[in-house]
Amino acid sequence: MIAGHWDLVVAGGRIAGAATAWALAPYAERILVVDASRPTAFWPQQSTWDRTGNLAWAELGLLDTVLACGAPRTYGDTYRVGDEVVERVYPLEDEYSYRMSVSREVLDPALLAAARGRGNVTVLRPAQLRDIALDAGGVRGVTVRHAGVDREITCDLLVLADGRLSRNAERVGAAAYRVVDSPWFALLAYYENLPLPTDRSYFSLQDRSVLISTPCGDKQWCVALDLHQSLIDEAGEHPARMYDRMVRADPHVGPAVEAGRRATSVGGAGRMRMLRRPMSGPGWCLVGDAGYHLDPVTAQGTRAALLTARILRDRVAAAGRVGAADLTGLTEERDAALEDDWAYTEQIVAPG
Ligand SMILES: Cc1cc2nc3c(=O)[nH]c(=O)nc-3n(C[C@H](O)[C@H](O)[C@H](O)COP(=O)(O)OP(=O)(O)OC[C@H]3O[C@@H](n4cnc5c(N)ncnc54)[C@H](O)[C@@H]3O)c2cc1C
Repeated sequence: MIAGHWDLVVAGGRIAGAATAWALAPYAERILVVDASRPTAFWPQQSTWDRTGNLAWAELGLLDTVLACGAPRTYGDTYRVGDEVVERVYPLEDEYSYRMSVSREVLDPALLAAARGRGNVTVLRPAQLRDIALDAGGVRGVTVRHAGVDREITCDLLVLADGRLSRNAERVGAAAYRVVDSPWFALLAYYENLPLPTDRSYFSLQDRSVLISTPCGDKQWCVALDLHQSLIDEAGEHPARMYDRMVRADPHVGPAVEAGRRATSVGGAGRMRMLRRPMSGPGWCLVGDAGYHLDPVTAQGTRAALLTARILRDRVAAAGRVGAADLTGLTEERDAALEDDWAYTEQIVAPG
């Protein structure tokens, strides 16, 4: 089924990979997306974005797909710092002036369905990119494992959208050239039927923790907690237990979660590293977290993933087809476009 030659192979079919397949489909005959995860897996990585994220979805032509996921738009938030509470309203600049959050269990399948809907995109899942064949001219092809069988195929371009822990980036020689260790542990769970407004979010900034509650679907909320590692070490408690305790103790979210229902387990990640890898080389390109991982504490990962997909799309569009694109200079273009996000996030991750 997958034998032969593909214009484009994309490893990873979540935000970055699915958006890239969608965006490059007009410039390719055949695109193969392989994603290692199971469609039913719970994915404890949130996707919340602001006006700039809406613009990024729109630039890729995916905003309607995202809006159809049914998440409410938020136009302001209740913002607590210590005991001080302020009600904020987001500035109304244009039609994109709202924040939104969609659970990955809804967003990722919608993006993959949009890519598939192009007609020339084949999605194999679960399937894993196992190896990369390189010669002097760059990537020649890849080995894909699906249903226990390894298959070698060739391609004009390999896009790695396989996340911050990408092993394939090393295989093409894309070593990280900038790394910042993060002291933040990011946790989340989804809840149903909370007696909270659906057009506002909630932020609580306390000593070494940030609690955020965001409506993200019909009667559905994501409650996220960023914990500083020093707080976890002091408490000597499992981060998921701390999450439960701190969510319940919060004066705004605590009573709400008592009244509603937690719909998922508590998941997340800690001991993460912000990193930058080169964006492209001969026959390969890195999009999303694989090439540029911003700590989730500033919630800019989604937009960064979309921006890298858009930068690649623009190069390919200029050439007219995937195989003809000149991919030199993408690293510099991406780093310049994301410099402010990096500086802002690094300041929170590594203060002083
Ligand atoms: C707890 C948490 C909260 C977050 N909150 C926010 C937020 O509010 N806002 C925001 O913008 N960002 C947030 N982020 C960051 C955001 O989730 C990431 O930036 C985003 O998921 C990056 O998307 P991606 O497609 O690059 O990678 P991923 O979403 O990591 O997807 C990578 C995919 O590649 C697959 N894969 C891996 N290896 C292979 C292989 N060899 N072959 C095939 N497939 C493979 C994986 O199975 C996975 O499906 C958060 C992250 C965490 C951890």
